[in-house]
Amino acid sequence: MARLGKINHRHRLVPNFRRPGYTHPMSDQNLYIVLGIVGAVLAAALFFFLRRRPSSPGTHQSVRYAPPSPASPSATQQSVRSAPAAPAPKRDLTVGLSKSAQFLQGAIDKLFSHSEGAAFFSDLEETLVTADLGIEFTERLVTSLRKDLGLKVPSREELKARLSQALNVAFPELPLPTALDGATLPQKPWVIMMVGVNGVGKTTTTGKLCSRFRAQNRKVIVGAADTFRAAASEQLQAWVERTGAEGVFQKEGADPAAVAFDAVQAAQNRGADVCIVDTAGRLHTKHNLMDELAKVKRVMAKASTTGAAPAPHEVWLTVDGTTGQNALHQAREFHKALTLTGIVITKLDGSARGGIVIPIVEELKVPVVLVGVGEGVDDLLVFDRTQFLQGLLAAL
Ligand code: GDP
Repeated sequence: MARLGKINHRHRLVPNFRRPGYTHPMSDQNLYIVLGIVGAVLAAALFFFLRRRPSSPGTHQSVRYAPPSPASPSATQQSVRSAPAAPAPKRDLTVGLSKSAQFLQGAIDKLFSHSEGAAFFSDLEETLVTADLGIEFTERLVTSLRKDLGLKVPSREELKARLSQALNVAFPELPLPTALDGATLPQKPWVIMMVGVNGVGKTTTTGKLCSRFRAQNRKVIVGAADTFRAAASEQLQAWVERTGAEGVFQKEGADPAAVAFDAVQAAQNRGADVCIVDTAGRLHTKHNLMDELAKVKRVMAKASTTGAAPAPHEVWLTVDGTTGQNALHQAREFHKALTLTGIVITKLDGSARGGIVIPIVEELKVPVVLVGVGEGVDDLLVFDRTQFLQGLLAAL
């Protein structure tokens, strides 16, 4: 018994650890196994802890900036707060034009693989018109190519060079308001009237503009003169709240000219830098839209009591870049009625029809001022002619 151990006061056998052959439950071997298991559990716990922890803003990559819904300010504010601090991807006109460039490339590929001799030139004509470059531009280019080459089919490089040359002539560099980039305002308040048919992205562009001017620390007043659509006012209200602008709103169905008048006066009285008046693309009454907009424009001039020139100082037409020739027809009509000073082309991100910019500018000699390349607040670019031409011809 003494070899095995002693009996303690509770009459239990206390093992004799020193006896030969005795193995303590925590022998070296068992101890290593237990330590190994504990270590593995701790390592696994640490691994899961680190995976769940948000990474530091500078290295944040998995969370994308969600374009806020202008219709719900609270959602908007939330998504802005949760936006990563990492720099947003560069928004570039060439990226916005990628679909148009691919379309042109595909059409030219097909042309070179299918057409020869005299048929080449008529197919080229069809290709360029389909790419929305305009009938007049196309006819001029094809006539001059025929004159110089006879029936000889140009090489692809030759065609690209001639196309680029012709576009440079047809598409002149027109001056843009530098105030868009933060330079001194041409007027104070600088009054911009936004026009365009329903659904083209007029109200969204007005909101994005608010954001741009507010980021330049400018005081902005918005007039919600699209009183036909209650949703337009709500949409603008949300943009106004999230950008820290001020708004002039009236109930649905109110006279749009009255809203525009109040907005210009408010901008003057409150010392605003910029006043943007969003107008309707459709009307309650059977009145002609153009007559009504011409009236709104006249009333804005009447409201002007300060500044060298009467308001509006800019009349910008928004066209939907996915609609091709329709955009050109709208530009003609609106220019005739209102004397446009600028074109905003939206939705280029989803369009293969960016070429439409060429006939609009060529025919009307009105500059494209802004380009919409998405629904997010930053998806509005000041137009850059060089970048546009490079982007359009990039894939040729
Ligand atoms: P309005 O009737 O002319 O005021 O048009 P809205 O501003 O209400 O816009 C109509 C739709 O076009 C909305 O769903 C906008 O989010 C969308 N939109 C506006 N601009 C752009 C753009 O540049 N790209 C894309 N993809 N969608 C746009």
